[in-house]
Amino acid sequence: MTARTVDPDGLEPLLQRVADGLPGLLADFNAICDCGGRVAGSDSERRARDLTLGRLAEIAGAGRAWLEPVDYAGWQPGSCSLSLADGTPLACQPLLGSASTPPAGLVAGVVDLGRGTDDDFQRAAARIPGRIALVRHEFPFSPDHVHRRRKYDAARAAGAAGFVIAHTDPLASPTSGSSGRNGGDGIPAVATDHAGSARLATADASGARLVVQGTDQPAVGQTPMLDLPGRDPDDARRVVLSAHLDGHPLAQSAMDNASGLAVALALARAVAPQMAQAALGLRVCLFTAEEWALAGSRQWLAMMTPAERSRLVIDINLDTVGADPRLTALTSGFAGLDAFVAASARAAGQPIGLHRPLMPNSDHANFAAHGIPALRLIAGFDQPASRVRHILTAQDTRDQVAPAELAGAARASASLLWRALCATDADVSSWR
Ligand SMILES: [Zn+2]
Repeated sequence: MTARTVDPDGLEPLLQRVADGLPGLLADFNAICDCGGRVAGSDSERRARDLTLGRLAEIAGAGRAWLEPVDYAGWQPGSCSLSLADGTPLACQPLLGSASTPPAGLVAGVVDLGRGTDDDFQRAAARIPGRIALVRHEFPFSPDHVHRRRKYDAARAAGAAGFVIAHTDPLASPTSGSSGRNGGDGIPAVATDHAGSARLATADASGARLVVQGTDQPAVGQTPMLDLPGRDPDDARRVVLSAHLDGHPLAQSAMDNASGLAVALALARAVAPQMAQAALGLRVCLFTAEEWALAGSRQWLAMMTPAERSRLVIDINLDTVGADPRLTALTSGFAGLDAFVAASARAAGQPIGLHRPLMPNSDHANFAAHGIPALRLIAGFDQPASRVRHILTAQDTRDQVAPAELAGAARASASLLWRALCATDADVSSWR
């Protein structure tokens, strides 16, 4: 391996341009939040797509910016309500892509499964068939977190007739989130708030009525992309910088993921003038349908030939990089990325924590599934008291994200990006 892994003349100017570009980063962040929650297929998402594609086109210069079509199992929500048998209404938010109940609703007893771990499901197995499974939403970014879709799958497998996930914070709204059904078989799935779960937990005998209606609509999303060649225009290898464009309907999807989008745009803008120094090219992917069980990036990667995928040397995925100053790289099981992240953090003077086990909670997981080294940079990992706890709720608004947090995330991710762009062949093989 050669000693030089990063062009020493490249990082400082890049970090300086990132710092100088902070007003533009904040303007983009606010403009993306102004588009609304950006549910895939909505006008709000289209506004954000046009906005971000416009930014990429401004940056393109010698490169190119375009929209990459991607199929996914779309879904349009209809009516949604949850009530006790006596008609008392409870807060209700459909999970994206939920299966429908009959129009008059599903009336069934409720099984309170607490948090909804595998043990919880096993203990109550005999009582679940035909009933509505009630579980709790957890802070999603901690090592022992049980993902909502795993609880949903457990409820289905155990024969539940419906699925309700409840926030545990008395002040929080119900969460949005994907059911993970993807147009296939499934059970009706909604979220409620803390008060709703307290009422449901005592409704076992009398039961509850759940109405959720939606229409499956195969959809075509559009992923804004930018391609900037490195110093050798014939070298087709690319470092992927990704951030998802789509979000949830309840608020502005500010943390998740206007923060990552705005930082990705700022990095692309800052690095473009020095791509002639970079060993590898850059591909920016602003994926859609991430909130639909990671469908957009999965489809894009699946359409490629193995040879095309082998030219993607690493994915640096920015998802929820504001709302806490503490940053962590989720390195998807690639032990070789630990040293890469540590060196990047040192070079930028910006601490980045490490969590190596694969966490399939954003687009990086689809790269990792194809053997492509992939990391997700995230704020507030394993910090359940941080503002990141408001993710997926009506509280995911721009005021949760401090400008200094976006500046820190931009600095950290710029260092990761430049190190990746200047990688030698030995570096690239050391990551795998
Ligand atoms: Zn996200």
